[in-house]
Amino acid sequence: MADQLWRRTPESFAALRTLPASLRSELERSFRLDTLVETTVRPADEGLTHKALHLLDDGRSIESVLMRYPARGSVCARATVCISSQAGCAVGCPFCATGELGFWRDLTTAEIVDQVRSWASFLRPTGERVTNIVFMGMGEPLLNTERVLAAAAALSDPRRFGLGARHITISTSGVVPGIERLTEQGTRYTLAVSLHAARPALRDLLVPLNHRWPAHAVVAAAAAYGRATGRRVTYEYVMISGINDTADDAAETARLLGGQLAHVNLIPMNPVAHTPWLPSPSDRIEAFAAILRAAGLPTTVRRNRGIEIGAACGQLAAERAEQPAPAAVARRRELIVERTSAALGRGMAQGGS
Ligand code: SF4
Repeated sequence: MADQLWRRTPESFAALRTLPASLRSELERSFRLDTLVETTVRPADEGLTHKALHLLDDGRSIESVLMRYPARGSVCARATVCISSQAGCAVGCPFCATGELGFWRDLTTAEIVDQVRSWASFLRPTGERVTNIVFMGMGEPLLNTERVLAAAAALSDPRRFGLGARHITISTSGVVPGIERLTEQGTRYTLAVSLHAARPALRDLLVPLNHRWPAHAVVAAAAAYGRATGRRVTYEYVMISGINDTADDAAETARLLGGQLAHVNLIPMNPVAHTPWLPSPSDRIEAFAAILRAAGLPTTVRRNRGIEIGAACGQLAAERAEQPAPAAVARRRELIVERTSAALGRGMAQGGS
């Protein structure tokens, strides 16, 4: 039965025709097959990107995203699903729409897994299947570590969803005990660390968890994970114009990551309402990448997907959540400008220069 539940993702127990009718009725009476009450899907990028809004039992909403990459030459087609681990997020990174919502609650293991099952059902009529899972949706995965690990175990278990561990990426903004837990567990997932700045004062601003677990401690924990698993760690770096994208920032980042088994992924910041910042221009991103590559760090620039439907990195905000008043958005922008001036020690904090 496990195979039918995980591989075929039936809509009800009644659809499990190989089971006796009495058992199917009993299952229908006693259990629920899906924790997601309702799922609404919106397309973008000519059907290559879809965003789902999932309504949960308690009336909260979360989002997940499907990104399809057609086959190119010898590279096979991929379908990557970006899933949420919490409803809202307590970390509060100022460039992120989820952080602006605040924190509601941790998702259960079933709510995490059901986002993937939902996309598997969505893809079935096309003959495609989910090939990669990234825990980069709403929430900080390693502040819900045990449920995230249980979900990842189910998704990588050959008797259940059956995706290889290396096709699952667990992302963190730098929860050191969570990274240590991953190391202790030893499964060879891909670890992605949101770095976003190497200078301490700037990282305090961009990733508030830096006050508790500073970048050097995060990099040390991630390096230990890399040594234990043999997996290269990915460092995510959102590129914000005039804020964290100078040649000095690149040099600091190269110093911090020097000698690591690492890969850096530069992400042009996506527009979100509550911040005055803008994405770095492409020539500055390329110059930043060139400095990292010259220091021996493999570096790529991510092409953002689903911007027009709010599905890109940092934009997930569960559309049913109450929208903040315009005055609150304006005050939030002012606050970001003030804090940025303090962090950078200069008057220029609007970005865009
Ligand atoms: S970037 Fe990640 S950790 Fe930071 S506020 Fe957004 S969801 Fe939370």
